[in-house]
Parts: sequence; structure tokens; C-alpha cells
Amino acid sequence: MGTSAVAYEEMTRTERVRAAVRGDEVDRVPVAFWHHFRPEGSARRLAEATLRFFDEQFDLDICKVMPDLPYPFPHRAITDGNGWRMIEPLNLERSHFVQGRLRTIEILRDELGDETPIIMTVFSPLTEALYFCGGRDAFLDQARRDPVAVHGALAILAQNLRDAMELYIAHGADGVFYSIQGATSDEKGLGEDRYREFGRPYDLIALGGPRDGWLNVLHVHGDANLLMDAVLDYPVDVLNWSDRLTGLSLREVRGKTSKCLMGGWHEFGAALNGPVEQIQAEAEDAIKQTGGRKFILANGCSVPRRDPRGVAGGRPRHRRTARRGVAAGGAARSRRGAHGEAAFTHA
Ligand SMILES: [Zn+2]
Repeated sequence: MGTSAVAYEEMTRTERVRAAVRGDEVDRVPVAFWHHFRPEGSARRLAEATLRFFDEQFDLDICKVMPDLPYPFPHRAITDGNGWRMIEPLNLERSHFVQGRLRTIEILRDELGDETPIIMTVFSPLTEALYFCGGRDAFLDQARRDPVAVHGALAILAQNLRDAMELYIAHGADGVFYSIQGATSDEKGLGEDRYREFGRPYDLIALGGPRDGWLNVLHVHGDANLLMDAVLDYPVDVLNWSDRLTGLSLREVRGKTSKCLMGGWHEFGAALNGPVEQIQAEAEDAIKQTGGRKFILANGCSVPRRDPRGVAGGRPRHRRTARRGVAAGGAARSRRGAHGEAAFTHA
């Protein structure tokens, strides 16, 4: 009987990701990546597009749902305090925004069973508010002129999102992918003091919603100067940011927190353009930085649109071979990059 035939039992996706989050040993580092696609329309079409990408095409360890139906309030619509006062509590039972997501989660859970983690993408109250008023400069201007109205709106948004996220978990999601914008110290963000005033308190309200989940991921969006220290203590299980793009390395954050870290691939680099050797090199470097413990290999932010004729190729991978390749190599599975639709909002 050969001794090398079976080195260890292969974990299920859920076992692998759970072990990574806890800091236990894994059969190989869990892998996920994503981009935004626009299935346009129904909860079922979203579920089908999600399944195709995460499960069938790339055999990823986490299934991340990225709904195309935005929060029910028009973008760039708010110009003054009265606009902020139009943001109201959502009727969750009647909200397409919430009910469509619940339906997608249920379909995915039915299809995938319990051994694939499912997380729902959610934008923070401040992120939504930035869309509603047309961006950072408009937001700061209005926050200065009518802070009471802005804070009131953020509080309602936070409660709505909190309630929605609680339902996502109750309906079968393992966690949320909670994306924050504005948490940078440069001219694209709010700066630390204002993030602590307009971002953090509402993040903490909202993040009370998915507290029964075990795979809540905080995505700190930005290409530089992240205010990571202002959010490190959030009640989440995993931290994700553009470690390559921002220069804030996995190693540096590893030194500051015991949370599971997620990243390692440059979303505008080899992951998009190849070559495979570079994708592999980034993976190996990321594993070295983190010791491969409490770590999920992933892109830092959404991989942008790519012509499907590029590395994206889209040829269905032979799942078995790829899994073995990853296990044997101790590094990333080779990936064909991400293809499909452009990000209409960044996560
Ligand atoms: Zn991002």
C-alpha cells in the first residue's frame, strides 16, 4: 500500500473556511475572488449567475452574493437637509431590496447545501449616503450645513441595514461582506475625525444585525491611506482590503489584529492580466506574510471588467485537477482571472 496516496482528508469548503477563521489547520488555504456581474432582474437569475461563477466555473471556497438592485433611494438625489429627511425606515416585508436578497440566499442554500459558505454584500450607511448625495464633497458640505439631518438619515439607514442583515443570516447566509467607503485619510475619504463621527457609529449599529453569522467580512474600500486603525475592532470575523494596491501589507495588519485576513491578489494586476506565474507568486508571498493561518486568499477589491477573451478565457476548469494542484503546490489554484461585467459600485 502506497504511503503517499492519501496525505490528508480533503475538507469541505465550509470546514476549510471555518478553520481559517478560527486559526485552525487547513488542508489548503481557502480561495475566493469576485467581480460584479449584472444578472439584471430576478432573485433567481442572480442566484444562477452567482452559482455559475463561484461554484461551477471557479470552484471557490466562498460564495459571495453581489446584488444588482441598489438600496431603494435615488443616487445623487439629495441636495439639502430636506433630502436627508426623506430617508425612512424600510418595510422589510414589502421591500424588494430585502426580499429579493432573501430569495437569492434561499435558492443558493438549497442548491449548495451546508458545505459552502454564503455571504451577502452590503454597503455601509455612509457608503449609501455618499451615493445619495453625489459623493464625498457634497456629503461634507451638507454635513456641515445640516448635521442633524445627515445624522438622522444615517441612523435610519443603519437601522434598516441592521434589520436586513439580521434577516440574511436568519435565511441562511453565513455572514455579510460589509463594505465601507470614505474610511481614508486622503481627499477621497472623510479623514479620521469625520469618519469617527459619520461612519463608525453607524457601522457599529448596522453590524449588530449579522451577529449570528460566523463569516462577517469587513471590506475597507480605497486605493490608499486607509483608516484601518479606526475600524480594526469592528465586530467582524474577517478583514479584507486592497493590500497590494494600498501598500498596507498583510504582514503589517497581521501584527495589529488576530482577525482572519483576506487578500493577497492585486485586483488590477496579474489577476486581471496574467501571467499565471505572477498570480501564483502573489499567492505564495501572501501565504508567507500570514503564515497561511487565519488567512483567505482573495482579491483586495472587485476585479474590474475584462474582455472575456483576455486571461478570463472562461473555459470551465477541471475542478478535481485544480484542487489537487492547489493542495500539492501549497499555493493558489491557477485561475483564469475574472471576467464579466464592470463594477457599478465598488465592493
Ligand atoms: Zn473595494
